Parts: sequence; C-alpha cells; structure tokens
Amino acid sequence: MTERVQVACTAAVQTAVEHADDPRILEVTVDLGRLEGMWATLFARREQQQTARTRVVAAAWQQLIDRDAVAVAIDAVRARAGLAEARRPLDGRGAEALAAALALVRALTDRPGWTGLRTALRNAIAAGRAEGMVNAVAIAAERLGPLHVRLGWDIAFKHAYQSLERLDELWAETDTWLARMLDGTADDLGRILARAAEEGASREEMIDAAMDLLTGEKIDSVAFTIDWAMTTAADEGALALYQSEGVQRVDVITAGDGRVCEPCIGYESGSPWSTLDVPRLPTHPLCRCCYAADVSLSHFEAWFA
Ligand SMILES: [Zn+2]
Repeated sequence: MTERVQVACTAAVQTAVEHADDPRILEVTVDLGRLEGMWATLFARREQQQTARTRVVAAAWQQLIDRDAVAVAIDAVRARAGLAEARRPLDGRGAEALAAALALVRALTDRPGWTGLRTALRNAIAAGRAEGMVNAVAIAAERLGPLHVRLGWDIAFKHAYQSLERLDELWAETDTWLARMLDGTADDLGRILARAAEEGASREEMIDAAMDLLTGEKIDSVAFTIDWAMTTAADEGALALYQSEGVQRVDVITAGDGRVCEPCIGYESGSPWSTLDVPRLPTHPLCRCCYAADVSLSHFEAWFA
C-alpha cells in the first residue's frame, strides 16, 4: 500500500458510504486496482511534474508583480475618482476600476520578467505534451498484457520532449493560456479596486489589497491554470501520437485516482471512438481521464528497457 493508494482508498470508502444506493459504486471501487503498477506511475509522474512546473511558473509570476507599478495604477483610479484629496465614495466607478486594472495587467507584458513567465509556461505545456505521449505508449503497452517489456519513463519523456522543440503551436497555446490568466486577473483586480474605493479605502490600503490578490490568490490560480494547461497538453499529445501511428479507434477511460468523473463516464461508455470525432479531453478542470488505444510498439523500441 503506497501512500497514494491509501489516500485513494479513504476517498473511495467515503464515496461508497455517501452513495451507498448507487448501483455503480462498485465500479468506482474496482478502479482502485488500477492504481498499482503502470497507472500508479502514470498519475504520480503527472502530479510531480505539475507541482514542479507550478513552482517555476509561480516564481516567474511573482517576479512580475511590482509594488511601484501597482501603486501607479491605484493612483490612476483614485485620481479619476476624485479621491486624491477627499475620502469620497466611488459610486458607479466600477468601469474605471476595471480600466485601471486592465492597464496594470497589460503593463505586465512590458516588464522584463514577462519573457521568463512566457517561457516557463511554454516549457510546462511542452512537458505536459511530452508526458501525454509517454502515457499513450505506456497505456498501449499495458493493453498488450502483463508480459510487456518495461517502459523507460525518463528516457521516453526526454525523447518526446526533444521532438517538440520546434513545435510553434506550443507558443500559440501558451499565449492563449496567458491571455486567459490576464483577463481573469484584470476582472478580479477591477472588482477589488472598485470595492476598496467604495469603502473609502486609503491609497495604502488599496495597494495592499491589490498586492494581496496578485501575490496570494493569483498564485493559487496559477496552480489551477498549470494543472489545466498541462492536462490539456497531455491529452493532445496522446491523441496526436495515436493519430500519427495511424490509430483508427480510441477509447476514453475514466482512469481517475478514486474520483468519479461524471462528465467523462458517458464518453467512456461511448467508446471506442473514431480518432476523428473522439471527444476532446479534458472535459473539465482537474479531469484525469485518458485516451487509450492499441498501438504497435515497434516505433518506440528506444523507450523500453
Ligand atoms: Zn474526466
């Protein structure tokens, strides 16, 4: 019993107690058997990589956030609201607060640390995609039966990662995730500034509130974004690998770690899918479901020990 299996067992028993009347509950529990062997390695590796990449991206984000730049944006909101001298309420100034927040967030892209953040996120997405390719081959090997040769996960990952070096599409994906992150940040920041102004907060209090958001709550949302972006990249990597190997039919499997993934159960029971119209995973944030297909391992001999 690894620590991971113990945690999953506890979660499964809780789920079983809560849904004792659900006839499907036994199937969920059966899933736990998969947590040993290949599946345990697969999910543990993903988790480790996501944790490590989140740390790097969060550090790059922290570097961007500068108290002076935040102060400039706050002064702009206060000046427009006529708060420079008097403590007046900011009725109906939500739009101005949002505009200032947008200006602040846009200014982040001109800061010297921006390239570092963009590169860290690109590398995280590349790692997710490479791991997804490795996962696809690991799952295919597992389907060949218990006598399959052992996958050299690290060697396989290195090969897969290197093969992505010139994939421009990774930068496009990176910019999409960054834009999403910045939009969310601007919304949250705008709301906080508007509220602070309405409550008659002082200049320092407003700066503190903005800094708290940008260096606190936003760090949590970086972790959420990395999880989602890397999982998306992993699923794309797996599907692309299956497609490039000429696979016609692919299964969706809800190979969760004890969690039930409601949106994906339907996709699983609809399997196998044609590779052309298979539903795109992940179907929701924190989705751990995977594609699985039969593939000849002859192109991947170097990945096996
Ligand atoms: Zn799912």
